[in-house]
Amino acid sequence: MAAFARADAAADPSFAEILALRPHLAIAPEVGLMVDGVPLARIAAEHATPTWVYAASAISGRFRALASALAEANLDARIHYAMKANDALAIVRLLGSLGAGADVVSGGEFHAARAAGIAPSDIVFSGVGKTEAELRAALAAGVGQINVESAEELAMLDALAAAMGRRAPVALRVNPDVDAGTHAKITTGRAENKFGIPIGEAPALYARAAGSRALRVRGVAVHIGSQITALAPFRAAYARLAELVRALRAEGLPVERIDCGGGLGIPYRNEPAPSAAAFVHLLRETLGPLGATLMLEPGRWLVGPAGLLLARVVLEKHGTSRRFVILDAAMNDLIRPALYEAWHAIVPVAAARWHAPATPADVVGPVCESGDTFATARMLPALPPGELVAILDAGAYGAVMSSTYNARPLAAAVMVRAGEAAVIRRRQPVEALIAQDVIPHWLASG
Ligand SMILES: *Cc1c(COP(=O)(O)O)cnc(C)c1O
Repeated sequence: MAAFARADAAADPSFAEILALRPHLAIAPEVGLMVDGVPLARIAAEHATPTWVYAASAISGRFRALASALAEANLDARIHYAMKANDALAIVRLLGSLGAGADVVSGGEFHAARAAGIAPSDIVFSGVGKTEAELRAALAAGVGQINVESAEELAMLDALAAAMGRRAPVALRVNPDVDAGTHAKITTGRAENKFGIPIGEAPALYARAAGSRALRVRGVAVHIGSQITALAPFRAAYARLAELVRALRAEGLPVERIDCGGGLGIPYRNEPAPSAAAFVHLLRETLGPLGATLMLEPGRWLVGPAGLLLARVVLEKHGTSRRFVILDAAMNDLIRPALYEAWHAIVPVAAARWHAPATPADVVGPVCESGDTFATARMLPALPPGELVAILDAGAYGAVMSSTYNARPLAAAVMVRAGEAAVIRRRQPVEALIAQDVIPHWLASG
């Protein structure tokens, strides 16, 4: 076990290699690790820990890289940010200001997208179990597109739109039965997954939708999974989708839009991952010739690398066979390591620690679960109590998946832009943890 752990840790990128791939991060001898010129030590002093820190430059830089790759490829394309990756209003607003629409998966996200200033017509409503109330609210507001995932949902929406005297803009999300080659919990495009309409059943359903006066069928959609770091699964899914579009058009059915979903992965461990340009090249080859408007729904790719979780060491505990670095952040803040065995880079904030001798350590939180582990046998320097660390690439599926387990309030969030750090989500006050609780009268004393 020890031998395996050491060999494993040896394969990890060094601190310098981690920094080299993350241009918004830099280290200086006096102030330590900085995000776009703002020392993380200063953010910790002003806002306490744990705190999420997002670099606006990284979000806008990534959005622009994707948008310009699409423009250079002469594709008629629109980016709808999948806001389930990070629903902070400031992040949605930043992306909206750059020209992104939003992809939402609940009535709550629809509400938040509107609050962030996204026009309803720029919102795509996805999800396998949208309720009638959610659909009604979205239709009443003038939602741009509803991605329908089953014959049952199509019938429900048809009746609902007819009763409201509206025409619902729809796309059919098909399940292309492609293995995304990612973690089982984030694979969505296999026939056995709950998502999408079996591709073989799509033509009949599409024809039915096109024949309804209460529906305006705009196109087809796929989304095969998340954190996909190879192009082959996208190629397979888009090839099947192109075949479907050709078959629909051959029947005389109009297809204006093709929604390509999200799922593009990022290099958490400096592993190779497709560039925006490579992904766009693939789109141009597979779907470009169809001349439809392409809709992209990236979430993780836009915001994942831009965020980190800043935490403080509570204490270093020397167990019988291991060194534990116990942080004031925990699995309730960032659950990805516990949920998906996800690897996140963890770096000290103090510059002096970067060159200190490293030994294996388990980095854990204070929650009462053995799964509350951010890293195992990670090569790290001594990290005495009070020391700061940054858990990197936590901008996507971090804060949004937080809970208050162990009655731990939700962490604060800060966005850094042009040397300034602004709070974008206040730390949840401890009173809020019990604010919705009610003691029934028969338990109330006196
Ligand atoms: C989750 C999701 C996305 C975004 O996935 P990422 O892996 O974050 O890019 C896009 N579209 C749909 C329908 C989704 O469910």
